[in-house]
Amino acid sequence: MAQETTVNQQTPPRNGRGRAARDTDIRVQLLFPTPEIAQKYYVPLAYTAARTCYSEKLPQDIWRDVQDGKVPEEKMHRLIRQIVESGHGTVIEHIVFTFAISGVSRSLTHQLVRHRMGVSFDQQSQRYVKYKHPDYTVPASIEGDDEVRERFAEAVEGNVALYKELLDHDVPAEDARFLFPNGMQTNLIMTVNLRELIHMCGLRLCTMAQWEIRKLFALIKAEVRRASPFLSQFLVIKCVSLGYCDESRNRDGHCKVRPHKDVVFAVFEEHRRALSAGRPKGPGSGPADPEASPG
Ligand SMILES: Cc1cc2nc3c(=O)[nH]c(=O)nc-3n(C[C@H](O)[C@H](O)[C@H](O)COP(=O)(O)OP(=O)(O)OC[C@H]3O[C@@H](n4cnc5c(N)ncnc54)[C@H](O)[C@@H]3O)c2cc1C
Repeated sequence: MAQETTVNQQTPPRNGRGRAARDTDIRVQLLFPTPEIAQKYYVPLAYTAARTCYSEKLPQDIWRDVQDGKVPEEKMHRLIRQIVESGHGTVIEHIVFTFAISGVSRSLTHQLVRHRMGVSFDQQSQRYVKYKHPDYTVPASIEGDDEVRERFAEAVEGNVALYKELLDHDVPAEDARFLFPNGMQTNLIMTVNLRELIHMCGLRLCTMAQWEIRKLFALIKAEVRRASPFLSQFLVIKCVSLGYCDESRNRDGHCKVRPHKDVVFAVFEEHRRALSAGRPKGPGSGPADPEASPG
């Protein structure tokens, strides 16, 4: 059986009006590539793309050398790492991942599909699917309080019951769905190239991102790690690759993953001032010119 990464499958039984999923029901499965394909082609593909830019050799010859085992893996990794760190992202656009994603809320997918570059989605249609037992997500903040949870469930399930009545009265699903709240669950397929996936992880693994989408990207990263531990290393919060946090909402420094850029630049400015204050003024005070040195 194909493996997949899940968060929480503890869900109460269906009650006939909709099914509440505690916290989240997210499941992610990397459909393509398999670990064997990723191992055999992905690093060689990115390496061949990168080497083609800097070599007189034909790309066909570079590819053959790689496939014949003439290029050590460490050499390929080094070049790809350098390229990614320098932001020369086209090389890793040749690498794509296709995920099956299920049990996420519509409020999550509304955020997810804002990503436009190098990513494609196919999502379950609320126009064409007539739901019998639509699932919905109950956030932990609601789940934890019995009274609040009950009122939340009543509201959502009341809407679901009315949705079904509307369908029975021949209201098209595309109109009946106007009753659905953001918590209704949905499923989709996402294909994304590695450059965009790095960008998305940079934003969506961040502590400033919403809890559900952070969980999704943690699962996505786990799936990529299973196929390619090397490539999954690049899927990090943006501050990890930048070296500082650029989120204005973290000016107070409450998130400690990396220092805020205001702090980093203030320290740098102080250091620069201290250096120039200590530097002697006047002619001959600059660095020694070896051409002008006697002897
Ligand atoms: C924590 C957080 C909070 C957010 N809050 C809000 C909010 O309150 N309201 C809201 O509307 N959105 C919000 N967003 C969504 C955000 O504004 C972006 O729409 C979303 O993250 C998609 O990212 P992107 O623009 O980088 O698109 P992507 O498609 O991922 O683009 C990748 C990169 O390609 C380049 N690019 C893409 N399209 C263009 C273009 N047309 N022109 C030039 N360059 C382009 C950019 O460099 C871009 O960063 C939030 C996102 C996060 C992570």
